[in-house]
Amino acid sequence: MPTDRERMLRAYADLTIRVGLNLQPTQRLLIIGPIANGGAALEAAPLVREIVASAYRAGARLVETLWGDEALLSARLEHAPRDSFAEVSAWLPDALVQHVSAGHAVLSIYANDPDQLKDAPQDLVGTVQQATARAVRPFRERISRNQTNWAVVAASAPSWARRVFPDANPSEQVDRLWRAIEKLCRLDVPDPIAAWEAHLADLAARTDRLNAKQYSALHYTGPGTKLTIGLPPGHLWVGGRSASSAGIRFAPNLPTEEVFTMPHKDRVDGVVRSTKPLGYGGTLIENFTLRFESGRVVEVKAEKNQSVLQRLVDMDAGAARLGEVALVSERSPVAQTGLLFYNTLFDENAASHIALGAAYKFTLQGGEAMSDEAFERAGGNRSAAHVDFMIGSAELDVDGALPSGTSEPVMRKGEWI
Ligand code: ZN
Ligand code: ZN
Repeated sequence: MPTDRERMLRAYADLTIRVGLNLQPTQRLLIIGPIANGGAALEAAPLVREIVASAYRAGARLVETLWGDEALLSARLEHAPRDSFAEVSAWLPDALVQHVSAGHAVLSIYANDPDQLKDAPQDLVGTVQQATARAVRPFRERISRNQTNWAVVAASAPSWARRVFPDANPSEQVDRLWRAIEKLCRLDVPDPIAAWEAHLADLAARTDRLNAKQYSALHYTGPGTKLTIGLPPGHLWVGGRSASSAGIRFAPNLPTEEVFTMPHKDRVDGVVRSTKPLGYGGTLIENFTLRFESGRVVEVKAEKNQSVLQRLVDMDAGAARLGEVALVSERSPVAQTGLLFYNTLFDENAASHIALGAAYKFTLQGGEAMSDEAFERAGGNRSAAHVDFMIGSAELDVDGALPSGTSEPVMRKGEWI
């Protein structure tokens, strides 16, 4: 008899393969973790084994896994020659591009404590991460253009679970994080796949309705927040499923609760207050307020780590402007937990949010075919940064400005109208 945990892992695996990736019988699958750490963490092994089995049951031709973890990176940082950290794998970057170009699927698994490396020498960590990022940029670009079907899921692991449940008994932390993941991924219902089909259909209906409205702006009102975010003509609301260049419909993030689009980089005015701490650069920025004028942040205030937030805003010209506006219901399972996961996959689904930095070209009609300059002229923000922060709560109201000049309610008290 399988245990509850085994049943849950199998349900998560089937959901990942059938709904997340929508893996096709002709495809190969590559399973990886954070590439700078070398691959999927060993703690994720029980989940990875279930995913591999599920992939073959779905008809996969070949499933491969790249293993590694932070301990291996820590060993490198401690013992490798000091001048060697810009060196990257000779074969991996090309192999990743080949895999994707051949139309095969990619699954990323996260099980990391985002802060585990904070005691390591930051310049060396930075060198490794930058060198890796540069080497795998062609792969990342293909993934971000949805050249193939890809997905990201998470596995509970001790260091991460300790961050999420610092007050729990150490022997219970991993289990509690698994149970949270189970709930957020709707694995605790009799038919998780049917539940996700219904939820993704809801998100699709929501984006269809918002796209038909073509609001010229959104007005946000809440405690400490009075903000207007202009939306450019042709903005596209996106959520739930994406389509690969081969036409495979897949859901890249499990869980996913948000619908999002592109703000006009020059038409944001007013004040917005964060409703959850922002984890950035290994620290938590708490209770902060941003004031915008003509799209640009002109004032930054934070009760904790204001200088870190200021540094983010000053990183480049685009980091002081918005690139994403996302709406999330306060009734979403992630919002209901009230937990902070220190992981964007979960935290960005906990509340309505906005992002400082780059906008996604796919959130503008015809955006992906535009040059960077044309995208910018259309209101698209460009930056090396893209940092989501939460502004939603059960006290947030959102109104949409219609082209006629009148407004109508979109959300009341954090819930869809
Ligand atoms: Zn988002
Ligand atoms: Zn984002």
